[in-house]
Amino acid sequence: MPQAARVIHPSPDVKRGVEYWEGVAPTVDGVLGGFGHVSRIDALGSRTFLLKVLPRLSYCAPASINTSPFAWKQDKVAARGGKGKARTRALDCGAGVGRVTENSLLPIVDEVHMVEPVPKFLAEAKKNSPKWLPLATPPSQSPFQARKAAHFHCSTLQDIDPARPYSSAQKGKGKEFDPTVSVDDQNEGGPATGSADSAAEATSSTGDDHEAGSKHEPLKYDVVWNQWCLQHLSDKDLVAFLKRSRQALKDGQGEEGIIVVKENVCQEAADGNETVWYDDEDHSITRSTKAYERVFAEAGLKVIKCEVQQGLPQELFTVKM
Ligand code: SAH
Repeated sequence: MPQAARVIHPSPDVKRGVEYWEGVAPTVDGVLGGFGHVSRIDALGSRTFLLKVLPRLSYCAPASINTSPFAWKQDKVAARGGKGKARTRALDCGAGVGRVTENSLLPIVDEVHMVEPVPKFLAEAKKNSPKWLPLATPPSQSPFQARKAAHFHCSTLQDIDPARPYSSAQKGKGKEFDPTVSVDDQNEGGPATGSADSAAEATSSTGDDHEAGSKHEPLKYDVVWNQWCLQHLSDKDLVAFLKRSRQALKDGQGEEGIIVVKENVCQEAADGNETVWYDDEDHSITRSTKAYERVFAEAGLKVIKCEVQQGLPQELFTVKM
């Protein structure tokens, strides 16, 4: 019987990939390879894309409502359990210094879990996080009056289980950080320090699943966001990670979660078949669109929307999400 031709592609070197990033400066310009200036347009494209796919996350009242926008927001806050709750959650995969968490995810969801294997990147994110606008904003001024939080997990995507980031991240690999929780409102007697470690401790002991600093597992996500990091996963590791991520998505009626992949793509081969490039510098691979589509199909995923990120410099790879 004739056999289907199997495509053999180069695989990334995971260990040397992490070693490469350990030598990079812990800055936005560092993680973007000297293209720090694209961060703004990138984040705008990401937020717009996310709200198009999951309009339920939007803080703007839809035109179709028959109450006032003010009443709509009040109803939403009540449905979320009142002021100060964290209801929506994202995973930021290969989070670097927290650029995507700060600018693309936390403005929209209440709680973000960052997964990043390079300890100094995570330390930089933790240090800066109290100043990130969504975390420096008290619940009374926050969209839906939510209490926002960033959580930090030192791990590769090969090792992490999104449902159990606290227990699956390799212990002792990097310093462990308490979550940074948004500041309290001044008049409520809580600490309004901005570092919020004490607030995190206060909330994590309540056992309430909707408290922003809670470390309770398993977790369910509205969004698993992968950006500029899947080049460090072989097809086998990527299929396994996408399957674990899918298991950790919310799946309630009207509450389905999504996985977003925002990555460089190279051109298909001249004969139209998928192709993959090996990068000698960071020991990663760049896939063509068809190579990603095959991996998604192998993970049992369906593509529901695809866009090209506009406004990036010509000399860069095409970036699709
Ligand atoms: N997503 C971030 C960072 C991009 S740089 C942003 O867009 O700003 C690529 C990141 O992937 C680095 O932080 C690097 O440390 C991380 N990385 C490298 N190997 C990884 C792996 N095996 N699993 C998860 N992340 C990895």
